[in-house]
Amino acid sequence: AAKQTGEPCRTWTAELDERAGEHARLGAELRAALDAGQFQVVYQPIVRMPEGRVTAVEALVRWQHPQRGMVSPAAFIPVAEQNGLIVELGAWILQTACRQMARWRAELGPTGPDRISVNVSARQLARAGFPATVAATLAATGLPAQCLTIEVTETAVFGGGQALTALHELRALGVRIALDDFGTGHSSLGLLQTVPVDVLKVDKSFVDNITEAGRHTVIARALIQVSEGLGLTAVAEGVETAEQAAALYDLGYRLLQGYYFGKPSADPDFQPRPAAAVPV
Ligand code: C2E
Ligand code: CA
Ligand code: CA
Ligand code: CA
Repeated sequence: AAKQTGEPCRTWTAELDERAGEHARLGAELRAALDAGQFQVVYQPIVRMPEGRVTAVEALVRWQHPQRGMVSPAAFIPVAEQNGLIVELGAWILQTACRQMARWRAELGPTGPDRISVNVSARQLARAGFPATVAATLAATGLPAQCLTIEVTETAVFGGGQALTALHELRALGVRIALDDFGTGHSSLGLLQTVPVDVLKVDKSFVDNITEAGRHTVIARALIQVSEGLGLTAVAEGVETAEQAAALYDLGYRLLQGYYFGKPSADPDFQPRPAAAVPV
């Protein structure tokens, strides 16, 4: 009996301790990494069909670790959220992305992207000073508010409260709001009744099997109808093949993002892809 109750318990505790220790270590490393300039922002194109023009770019953070190489944001953003560093890291990402977008506007003019999308985590959004940080960043970089989209997840705004207040304040500035990973949360459609939003980013999971007639296609069709009915802009995420792009276009999607059109890059090429890439 001792073997059955005692041992697994000890193992489990040890494992938890180890994980908690690793978590704390990673948290401390993130702080040092920010000071050492190991973070980088990369940019992925969002393309308008059928002409293939890059109308927007999404800013995505990268951690270039001196030993471990590129660390995925999926691994360190949750840790930064938990220890609070996301506030400072997020402000740095916002500043870097807005500065880059202002530069592209100056260099490329109307041939460049119209706006930049920046991901904001729940904890950043819930801070009372967040809209003021955005306003200050726009002022400092000279970027018009109309050129910035803030991407938030459904869970970040689900609780209402300060997060919801922040969205209203951001919108009053002229900034657009995008609901990220749309359709994967607990209350996707319910949120649309109360949350101020301009863009729905339809999650990759609905795009993955879009070429097979099935439930993904039915849901993707429903989401574009909801989007159009509410006067919102829909963006389909995670488009990897020409077939997926064509299927989405048939359903009515005009803004597409994914590896098929371009991977996140530090030095994006804003030339439209050749006509062969356009599925119409
Ligand atoms: P997300 O906001 O949904 O970003 C899209 C993710 O899908 C990115 O991964 C992107 O590289 C990847 N992706 C784009 N197209 C394709 C495709 O065709 N196929 C596949 N398999 N993947 C594709 P990434 O850059 O690793 O970021 C992962 C997540 O980490 C993001 O998901 C976002 O939630 C978070 N994240 C990334 N950058 C930031 C940031 O600056 N701030 C915050 N708060 N979160 C960030
Ligand atoms: Ca996003
Ligand atoms: Ca997403
Ligand atoms: Ca995602």
